[in-house]
Amino acid sequence: MAKPKLALYWAAGCGGCDVAVLDTNEKLLDIAKLFDIVLWPIATDFKYHDVRVMADKSIDLCLFNGSIRSTEHEEMARLLRAKSKVLIAFGACACHGGIPALANFSNRDEILQKVYMDEPSNSNEQKTMPQIKTKVAEGELELPEMYDTVKTLAQVVPVEYFVPGCPPPVDLILKVVDLYAAKKLPPVGATVASDKTCCDECDRIKEEKKVAKFYRPHEIITDPKKCLLEQGVICCGPATRGGCGMTCVKVNMPCRGCFGPPPGVVDQGAKMLSAIASIYQGDSPEEIEKMLKEVVDPAGTFYRFGMADSLLKRKRLNKI
Ligand code: SF4
Ligand code: SF4
Ligand code: SF4
Repeated sequence: MAKPKLALYWAAGCGGCDVAVLDTNEKLLDIAKLFDIVLWPIATDFKYHDVRVMADKSIDLCLFNGSIRSTEHEEMARLLRAKSKVLIAFGACACHGGIPALANFSNRDEILQKVYMDEPSNSNEQKTMPQIKTKVAEGELELPEMYDTVKTLAQVVPVEYFVPGCPPPVDLILKVVDLYAAKKLPPVGATVASDKTCCDECDRIKEEKKVAKFYRPHEIITDPKKCLLEQGVICCGPATRGGCGMTCVKVNMPCRGCFGPPPGVVDQGAKMLSAIASIYQGDSPEEIEKMLKEVVDPAGTFYRFGMADSLLKRKRLNKI
């Protein structure tokens, strides 16, 4: 009997989600036994053309990592949507925008100017900028166009499931494979992770204490048994979906929110701001001013993985 077909694709991401699949180690052989892998750019030499000529819905399962940042990513998202029965937003970038969506605090022209012109290590005397089309002796070369705004996969095409994490942990990857093999995938639209928050799954002692000062992790030696947030280290556990195994908190590092918002929370950053406000003991204008100085890079801290998916989505493009 023919094996089900599996595609893995990367759009705007770092490659870590693909490495997480490789981190399944010998279980990768079980995945290869179960599926016929028909696309996996990081590991195998299939061409986009091979996908274009496939019949619609001929891919049984597609794990799509990375956010949508360029015309190439959008074209592949639409193509893989058409060819796949089950399309999974795989990893924080595909689910919520992830680290690439921090670019939404800027725009394309500002990014290109900074990267190609303003960086002190650049040597670009001719002020060459990337072009979409370039004429050379052999003809015209074309590059994908970079968008102003980074989007999640589901903001471009319908998606059946979400597997969060930066990257998704190996246990979760194997759970998805097992659920698929057992024909026990959850209802369409589900996030394959916990329905609780990280705080619900954290076994550190919580004392309902107010905080007088916030610290960056390197500025304080914390008690490894007690809640990091109550010790003044910003930990996004209250605003983050559980299911990761508390990887960061177990090694005394605060949660940064890579599993996205828990069920019922629309905007992860706003939820985290509200958690910080409720735990801070000061309320005079001077104390609030002091606290704002202690919370370094609030946008990058509270929206580190979820800017594209937030209510803000991006910085305003045109000033009124
Ligand atoms: S979710 Fe994390 S590991 Fe995966 S591609 Fe994005 S940045 Fe990389
Ligand atoms: S804020 Fe962080 S350290 Fe505190 S209970 Fe929640 S996850 Fe644990
Ligand atoms: S503790 Fe938070 S940042 Fe770390 S893996 Fe879990 S969800 Fe992601």
